Amino acid sequence: MAKVFVKPRKARPFWFGHPWVFSGAIDRVRGTPKDGEIVELCDHDGHVVGEGFWNSRSQIRVRVVSLAYEGQLGTPFLLKRLDRALDLRNTALALPKRTQAYRLVHSEGDGIPGLIVDRIGPYLVVQVSCLGLMPHLDALVDRLVERENPKGIIERPSQIAAEEEGLVRQAAVLSGTAPDGEVEIEEDGLRFLCDPKDGQKTGWYADQRDNRRELAYLGAGAEVLDAFSYSGAFGLRMVSHGAKHVTLVDSSEPALALARAAAERQGALDRVTFERQNVLRYFDHLAKEERRFDVVVIDPPKLVHRRAGLVRGLRLYYEINMKAARLVRDGGLLITCSCSQHVLESDFDEMLGSVAKESDIRFQELFRGSQAPDHPVLLPLEESRYLKCRALRVFGTARRPTAAHPNDPAPDEIPNDLT
Ligand code: SAH
Repeated sequence: MAKVFVKPRKARPFWFGHPWVFSGAIDRVRGTPKDGEIVELCDHDGHVVGEGFWNSRSQIRVRVVSLAYEGQLGTPFLLKRLDRALDLRNTALALPKRTQAYRLVHSEGDGIPGLIVDRIGPYLVVQVSCLGLMPHLDALVDRLVERENPKGIIERPSQIAAEEEGLVRQAAVLSGTAPDGEVEIEEDGLRFLCDPKDGQKTGWYADQRDNRRELAYLGAGAEVLDAFSYSGAFGLRMVSHGAKHVTLVDSSEPALALARAAAERQGALDRVTFERQNVLRYFDHLAKEERRFDVVVIDPPKLVHRRAGLVRGLRLYYEINMKAARLVRDGGLLITCSCSQHVLESDFDEMLGSVAKESDIRFQELFRGSQAPDHPVLLPLEESRYLKCRALRVFGTARRPTAAHPNDPAPDEIPNDLT
């Protein structure tokens, strides 16, 4: 097995379980590992830290999977990790009692880098984004079939993996049959529709489940604007908790079609408006009409894909939050989220601080949430705590910001696609 030696004084995070070895931390490689092969990671003095997957094409040269005391990395090891992941959802979290859509495997968070498995009703949706997993994939799929007994397992290709790992996959049916159209799921007592084959990501944003449930009561009696609504999971839950009216805004027609069908099944069509719009343009339109809402929810797609894009991405968050705050009536609520792993909690707070300062309003924080526990955080990897969700009471009426900053992004720069 090839050995990868870390530079002097660079090994500390890996001893503590940080799984990403960037090229800059590597001193030398003994042997000539092929991309995807298992390598041994050693500190500068040659002490073995653990084993991981090598990929010379990726910025992350080694994805460390097992520490030296945990045993040898290979198919049996990964199957044990898979069992541990399935036990968490089925037993400890007892998720099948609460929902039919949840994450069964969350990549590094479950110690299997690059493997995502979501359950969407009777189907499983798999995404692979680590080249080193490929030789083990069949065994992992067999174990999923054996333990989860799904009607079908489908694979959705990951664009990021293709770009960053050189792992090009096609959409495929890995076991059983693919769903023929929409799949109905129930989450915390409410029925929704998902499209695991063609919908965004794997068809459902299970990571926001607990935030949606926690915050739904805040919509009682309220006029709600749910922006970046996807299939309406936030807004329609507020309707079921007595919201007076909800406007769902998304740029994706298929997403709104799922929302419309769900609203119809919930008997709530008279309390929901569907707007297929670019959120930023629509916000400008509402501001011009001097519309105000009791609750504004913003849950934009990932706006920062790489650490290098952080400053620019934070400007976009600033812009969106600024425009959203202007639409909240005095004393109303702004529920604001970010799913970008490179935006840390402190970055997000700072950005919100700038919004308050620049628009002469005050925020009172009522709630601070993260991702649901079927998306576990791997402790030394701060980036794995990717989801931020705040409920803020807005005091004052946000004044119109002065002329746009020359560096402000145009509304079209908000990406419409998600991974
Ligand atoms: N809140 C949702 C998840 C939102 S995902 C839930 O809980 O399920 C982000 C959504 O933003 C996607 O549905 C995507 O179609 C939409 N989107 C991306 N860019 C947009 C834009 N510029 N204007 C409007 N919607 C956009």
